[in-house]
This record gives sequence, structure tokens and C-alpha cells, in this order.
Amino acid sequence: MPTTFIVLLGPPGVGKGTQASILAERTGLAHVSSGDLFRENIKKNTELGKLVKKILSDGELVPDDLTIAMIRNRLTRPDCEAGAILDGFPRTPAQADALQAMLAEFNGDVEHVPFINAPEDILVTRLSGRRTCRANGHVYHTTYNPPKRAGICDIDNSDLYQREDDQVDTVKRRIQVYMDQTAPLIEYYRRINNLQEIDGAQTIEAVTASLGKSLEN
Ligand code: ADP
Ligand code: AMP
Repeated sequence: MPTTFIVLLGPPGVGKGTQASILAERTGLAHVSSGDLFRENIKKNTELGKLVKKILSDGELVPDDLTIAMIRNRLTRPDCEAGAILDGFPRTPAQADALQAMLAEFNGDVEHVPFINAPEDILVTRLSGRRTCRANGHVYHTTYNPPKRAGICDIDNSDLYQREDDQVDTVKRRIQVYMDQTAPLIEYYRRINNLQEIDGAQTIEAVTASLGKSLEN
């Protein structure tokens, strides 16, 4: 059976994870976030976690071979049989090439590439106010998407923390890394797929609506 893969492109903090969760709930597709997978490995102190801990806290990219192997492993799990929403992967042209090869093997294809974008000052404000649930990575914002009780996840009552890489200096570095290493994917997908540009500066609900429309095409 052919499978549907959606690649969410966009800079850090634009709202990829927020939209991927909403979309996953609506479509039943798996939400595959490379950042979440790395953070889980760090939390469990696995060999991969030990290798990547400092890379994440510095805001640099994990080497392609480690990232590709982790995603390949994730995409072979049964919940990806119908496809997946990819959030944060690919982040380099080499990763995008590896994804094409993997999907050819799984009889899947990248069907949609929504590119969500917003100006840098918005990204910085969103990242500095982001709070993340310690238990399962649910995402909130102190102003734009606050939990019902300050500091506590609505879904599993876990405490909310500020990611080390959401401190302002690391945020600036991550945006630079995105510009240098990930932005070339905009042209990459414009050439081979139907890249759909989405205004990420809107409210969460408005971005969800724009995304929904772009996926109908
Ligand atoms: P990404 O996965 O692209 O890094 P997130 O989905 O984690 O981004 O969102 C970054 C922060 O911005 C979070 O705190 C989230 O609650 C908030 N956020 C996401 N989308 C919007 C939006 N459209 N308007 C305001 N805040 C948003
Ligand atoms: P994110 O949760 O998407 O903000 O990612 C957090 C961090 O995980 C990034 O700053 C990188 O250090 C690492 N990371 C996530 N996805 C990738 C990827 N596709 N390639 C390399 N590093 C990644």
C-alpha cells in the first residue's frame, strides 16, 4: 500500500511541532520528530543520547549518519505503515536524499512539503517562551499557548521546563544553523515537489487552517 509522508519545513520555533501534533491527531498519521527522538535518547542515557547531548545543547546539527539511522529505525515501526508527518527531518540535503531512498524502499513518497515561515523576531519570542513537558514533550508557550496551571502539563500533569537550547544565545545559533544548512532544502523541494508556503506569523489556529487548505491540493 502506498504511504503518505508530509515533510514540515521551517525554521526553529515557527510552530512545526505544534502543527504536527494537531495534524497527527486529525489524520491518524504518526508524528515523527527527530528532536524529540534525540531528547528521549538523552533522557534515557542511551549510547546515542551520550553522543548527541552536547551537540543539542550547543544548537549544532547531529551528524547525518546518526540522524538518518535513527529515523530509518523509527519509520520501520508499525505506526508508520500508513505514513508519517516528519518534523525536523530532513535538515540537510544529504538527509533529504536519504529520505527519498528510504521511501522508495518503503513504497512511499513525500506527498506534501508545507514550508512554514516567520520573521526572526517572532521565532526568538516563541522559542524563549516555549515550555516543554518533562514526561512526553508536549509544547506550550508562556503567552501564546499557556497551560491551564502555570508550569504543569495539561495532559499528563508533568512539570514544564525550558529547554537548554531555548536560551537566547543558543536560539540565535540555531537560527544561523538553519539558514546555513537547512534553508537549501526550500529550493530542493521546490524543484522536486510541490512546496507550499505557509505564513507562520499567524495564530496557531490560523496556521492550522492554512495548512489544512494546502494539504487538500
Ligand atoms: P518548532 O517545532 O518549529 O521548533 P514549536 O511548535 O515548538 O516550533 O513552537 C515554538 C513555540 O511557539 C512554542 O512555545 C509554541 O507553543 C509556540 N507557537 C507555535 N505556533 C505558534 C503560533 N502560530 N503563534 C504563537 N505561538 C506559537
Ligand atoms: P528540534 O527539536 O527540531 O528543535 O531539534 C533540536 C535539536 O536536535 C537540533 O538543534 C539538533 O541539534 C538536533 N536535531 C534535530 N533534528 C535533526 C536533524 N534532522 N539533523 C541533525 N540534527 C537534528
